[in-house]
Order: sequence, then C-alpha cells, then structure tokens
Amino acid sequence: MKVLVVGGAGYIGSHMVKRLARSGHEVVVLDNLTTGRRSLAQYGKLIVGDLGDPALLERLFREYEFDGVMHFAASSLVGESVSDPSKYYQNNVACTITLLDAMVRNGIKHFIFSSTAATFGEPVYTPIDEAHPQEPINPYGASKLMLERILKDYAFAYGLNSVSLRYFNACGADPDGELGECHDPETHLIPLVLQAASGRRKSITVFGRDYATEDGTCVRDYIHIEDLCSAHALALEALVSGKKSGAIAYNLGNGSGYSVQAVIDAARQVVIKTGHTFIVEEGQRRPGDPAILVADAGRARTELGWYPQYEDLQTIIEHAWHWEQKQASDVLCN
Ligand code: UDP
Repeated sequence: MKVLVVGGAGYIGSHMVKRLARSGHEVVVLDNLTTGRRSLAQYGKLIVGDLGDPALLERLFREYEFDGVMHFAASSLVGESVSDPSKYYQNNVACTITLLDAMVRNGIKHFIFSSTAATFGEPVYTPIDEAHPQEPINPYGASKLMLERILKDYAFAYGLNSVSLRYFNACGADPDGELGECHDPETHLIPLVLQAASGRRKSITVFGRDYATEDGTCVRDYIHIEDLCSAHALALEALVSGKKSGAIAYNLGNGSGYSVQAVIDAARQVVIKTGHTFIVEEGQRRPGDPAILVADAGRARTELGWYPQYEDLQTIIEHAWHWEQKQASDVLCN
C-alpha cells in the first residue's frame, strides 16, 4: 500500500512509519517539523510542509495515489489548549478539514485518526468503553471530538471511511531503541521519571496523593506505542479490505490501571539495574486530572483482532529507559 503519514516525524507517527515501512508499504511523511524531528522520520520519504496547505496536499495526492492517510499531527497539551484554544481549533480542526477535503477531492477513501481519551472528560464509570458519554472538559479533547463528529458526516456525505483511535496513555519506545519520545516541553509521567533518573531533570513531582484510589495517586492505562501502532495497521487493513466502513471509533488501552506510585516503583526497579535512581517530590493536584482513567478496549480486540503485545509495565519502562539513556548521551535527539 501507499500510505501518507501526517505527523510522521513525531513520537507516535514515527513508530507508525517504521512499522509500515517494515511491512513493505511505501510511506510518505508530511510534517512541518514544529514538534517533530527529521531524524525520527527516517523510514519514510519526508515532505516538510503544513497539513493546512491545500496546494501542497493537492500536489502530493496527485503525485502519489495513496491507499490511505494516517493523521498524527496535532497540538496535544491540555493546559495550553485552555490558555490558547484558538491554536487547538485551528491546528486540530481547521487544518484537518483541509486535509479531509483534499482527500475527498482526490478520491482517497481511508483515514485513520488519532483521537484521545480526553474526548470523554470526567469518567462517569470505568473502565471506559465506546458507549461512555463524551463530554470533554478542555479544548484539546473538544477539538478531537469535533473531528470524530466531522468524520461521521464525511462518511455519510462523501463516503470517506475512517477509524478514530482514542488513545489512553501512550508510552514506551521502539524495542530496537531507534525511536522514542522527544517532547519539548515534556509533560508525561514516564519520560519525566526517566529524565530524573538519567540526570536531565532534578526530580519527579507526584501531582497529588489525595485521590480516591488505593494509594491516593491517579490511576492511568499505559499502552505501549508498538501496540498502538499495531492497532492502526489493523484499522487501515480493515478499511482497505472493505471489512469495515463508515466512521468507527475504538478505545485503545490495556484495560489495566497503574497508579503514579506504581509507575514510580516500576521505574525504580528498571533504572536500578543500570545503577541509577531519582528523587521524588510531593506536589499539588494538577488541574483537570481525573482520579482513574482506564480503557475497555474489548471492541478493538473483537472487531479488529487487536491484542497488545507489551502489557507489562516494566517492559514498557525498560524500552523507554533504553531510549532515554541514548538521549541523555545526546546521540539521537537533535
Ligand atoms: N503526573 C505526575 N507528575 C508529573 C507528570 C504526571 O504525578 O510530573 C501524573 C498526572 O497527574 C497523571 C499521571 O501522572 O495522573 C499521568 O500523567 P501524564 O501527563 O503522563 O498523562 P495524562 O494522563 O495526563 O494523559
């Protein structure tokens, strides 16, 4: 297949590009490199440009007759979305409409969209299945939910088939150690803990120990990046083969929750093997953090035949640690 990966120089997109290329597909990456890195897009043909540029999209779609498009390019900082919603509606909604319209004009019918657990807002029950109400509590979640809605309308009106994949906590790194997370600023728990262990950061702060959970810290569903990517590949195959059509959405997580304290404990066990440790500090709750967010991903399993391979938290952290050590020695992340 010929696949366009928008945002293929970013954390999740780059892992997807490698998986597709390794499976023998021809991959073109469209990335404006504002947050992505050239070195991460190494497995695809990189076109540097904006997804909101209709002339560029027209040229690309005419030159390559893509079988499908995967879209990972989005602004994704919850706090920033509250202070600067315009950026989120512009990048995540308006630019994506430009992309979808170019697909429609050029007869490209298969679209895989990175959605998020943030479309659900405060959980009413957990684990969260696809029937859970979607009431986002920040512009980031709202922007992704708007796209899910737009995709339903585009499926009906234009026959654009799509799968929206709602990620819970994406984490881990390429098991080969070639790719990993390079966010700036970094806000996610696992890379922050590991940066504290490698000495790139002074300490890790626990955001609140007074939640209604077993140990008082927030519980999340951590899903390995490779498992996320395998779900995308299955979703695209399901669309291209005609097994699935319309606008479908799946929740993607392991279905088991780990507390912030459990992540810290697991990370300590991993880094101690290489003679490292880190300092833990206590902090206030971070606004907008629900106590528990765990996915029910049963639908992706039964309908796509998706099974996560790296469910073990320690394995996830080992892969991320391998990557962090490379970054700390400044080999790859430039
Ligand atoms: N967290 C923390 N300290 C940090 C970063 C995150 O205690 O420096 C907590 C955060 O409050 C949440 C969990 O770790 O409960 C996962 O946060 P992350 O930002 O990784 O992902 P999110 O669940 O917000 O998508």
